Amino acid sequence: MAYAVTVWGVRGSIPTPGALTTRYGGNTSCVSVEQLGAGDGRLVVLDAGTGIRLLGQELVERGSGSLEVDLLLTHTHWDHIQGIPFFAPFASEGNEVRVWGSKQGDVDLDAILRQQMHPVVFPVPLDQLPAELSVEHVEPGEFDIDGFVVEAMRLRHPGNTLGYRLTPTGGGASMAYVTDNELGPGGDYEVGPDWHSELVEFLEGVDVLIHDAMYTPADLEHHRGWGHSSSSEALELATEAGAGQLVLFHHRPEHDDAAMDSLVEAVRAEAEEAGGAVEVMAATEGMQLIL
Ligand SMILES: [Zn+2]
Ligand SMILES: [Zn+2]
Repeated sequence: MAYAVTVWGVRGSIPTPGALTTRYGGNTSCVSVEQLGAGDGRLVVLDAGTGIRLLGQELVERGSGSLEVDLLLTHTHWDHIQGIPFFAPFASEGNEVRVWGSKQGDVDLDAILRQQMHPVVFPVPLDQLPAELSVEHVEPGEFDIDGFVVEAMRLRHPGNTLGYRLTPTGGGASMAYVTDNELGPGGDYEVGPDWHSELVEFLEGVDVLIHDAMYTPADLEHHRGWGHSSSSEALELATEAGAGQLVLFHHRPEHDDAAMDSLVEAVRAEAEEAGGAVEVMAATEGMQLIL
């Protein structure tokens, strides 16, 4: 079955509203994946940065009855969970949200989400949300959610961070969401020596690869070990894995629309030089791809 991948938040680290980011967007990481024609209120959401607020509003406006959401979190840095308290479907009884993600050390994911809404920092505790909420811990490997087979892989990023690859249960085009990932040298992460080749294998032949491209190659020189990649490294990976489309993601707060334009132009030129096998675009808020 065909599905739509919609981008609701593109930014890394912190929201960047304002006149200089209107075209690419200022909300932090959030992408939805929804089977087309199903119309049954089920969907998958990747990360819950501030962009998830817009998705929640749209779901409520659709008014299509009760919702079943599988929310896959890559990790629990602020820019990936900060929208949770503002996700409107949580406010209605009858909606069901399953949150999937990893523990951080020995701290359970539900404990982290509860702390985010502790009374000292937020007025409504997580347990008082009317929707039904459950939390599932994810380990690297494969698991099934409604309509998709999900593969998870550990990334090179501070904390226990996962990348996800989704393929419809009956087969078909696949997409991968790999953000907050340091492809180059630097940093000290709990991954094995064959991590890079395992990542290439994990992404082999993927149709759409959404990948961390926080830095320009020049920025990266000052940020090795910070857990992110340059746009050029993302392209190299996409080329190596034989990805069809590369969506640059997790834009640096300092990169306004003009900076993003030149970053995309530079990577597209590199892609041409590399043979033009990978189509390159940068994530923009509201962008939708149909697979
Ligand atoms: Zn991030
Ligand atoms: Zn992070």
